[in-house]
Amino acid sequence: MVKVINKSVCRGVAGKRIGNVKGVVIHNTWDNNTAESHIERLGKMSNKQLEDGFAQYYVDGQTIVRVEDTFNKAWHTANTEGNAYYIGIEVRGNRQTSKEEFEKAEQNAFKQAYEDLKYYKLPINRDTVRLHCEFTATECPKRSLIEHCGYDSIHKQPQAVIDKLKDYFIAQIKKCGNTETVKPPVTPKPPAAIKPPAKPKPPVKPQGVKRVAEKGTFYPNTTVAIKHTPTIKAKQEATLGKGESVIYDSYVKSDGYVWVSYIRNNGKRGYACSRDVKTGKAFGTFK
Ligand SMILES: [Zn+2]
Repeated sequence: MVKVINKSVCRGVAGKRIGNVKGVVIHNTWDNNTAESHIERLGKMSNKQLEDGFAQYYVDGQTIVRVEDTFNKAWHTANTEGNAYYIGIEVRGNRQTSKEEFEKAEQNAFKQAYEDLKYYKLPINRDTVRLHCEFTATECPKRSLIEHCGYDSIHKQPQAVIDKLKDYFIAQIKKCGNTETVKPPVTPKPPAAIKPPAKPKPPVKPQGVKRVAEKGTFYPNTTVAIKHTPTIKAKQEATLGKGESVIYDSYVKSDGYVWVSYIRNNGKRGYACSRDVKTGKAFGTFK
C-alpha cells in the first residue's frame, strides 16, 4: 500500500511556473534516506539553502511525498528550462539501497509520473519523460543507469544509454495506465437491492455544505471518485484506488455521502467519496 503525503514545505520558493508543464524528470536521490525524511530536511531549510536543490516529489518503496506543488517550479535540474517546465521526481537510491527497495521506489515514481502526465494532458514519450543527465552534466539517475543499462561510470552517458533508460521508463510508465483501465467502475453506489425507493432529491448547493475540520488518512478498499464539488453529479476529476491513500484535513456530508477533503496536486480542493451516510458503509478505512 502506497502512502501519499502532500506537504508543500518548499513554499513556492523557486517561483510559479510560467507556461505549461512539458514533462517529468526522473532523478535518484543518491542517498538511502526515506522519502518522508526529506519533508523535515527541506522544511528546515532557508530559501538560500533550498537553492542547493529540491524536486517536487520524493519517492521510496512505501511512500510518495510531494514537498512542492507542481504548478510551482523547483530547483532540480541545474538548468533553467528543466526547472521551469518539468516536474522533478526523486527516487530513493544509491549503492546502499537494496535492489528490492529501489525497484519498488521506481515503480511508485512511475505511477506518479503517469498521474502527472495524465493531469497535464501530456503524452508518454522521449520528449516528456526526461533524465536529469539530459539537462546538465551529472551521473543522475545513477542507480537507474546501473540497474537498467549496466552503466556505472563518471563519464558522460552515450546517447544510446540515455535512450535505452528513457525507453525503459516510458514502457513502465505506460504500464501504470494499463492497470488503471481495468479498474472497476468508479462512483460508488449502493447495490440495487438495498436502494431506497426513488425520491426526488432537493438540489445540493455545494456552497451550503459545511466542511468539518478533521485530520486523517483515508485508505479506500475500492475505487472511489475524486471531485472538486462533493456531489454525485459533479464532474469526476480523478479516482483513488485500493492500495492508495489520501491525507485529508476535513470532511463534508453532502448528497448522501461523506467526502473527505484535501488540497489536490493542482492546488484545488478535492473531495473523495468515503462513506454512504444512509447505510453507514465506508469505502475504506480511516487512520
Ligand atoms: Zn538528479
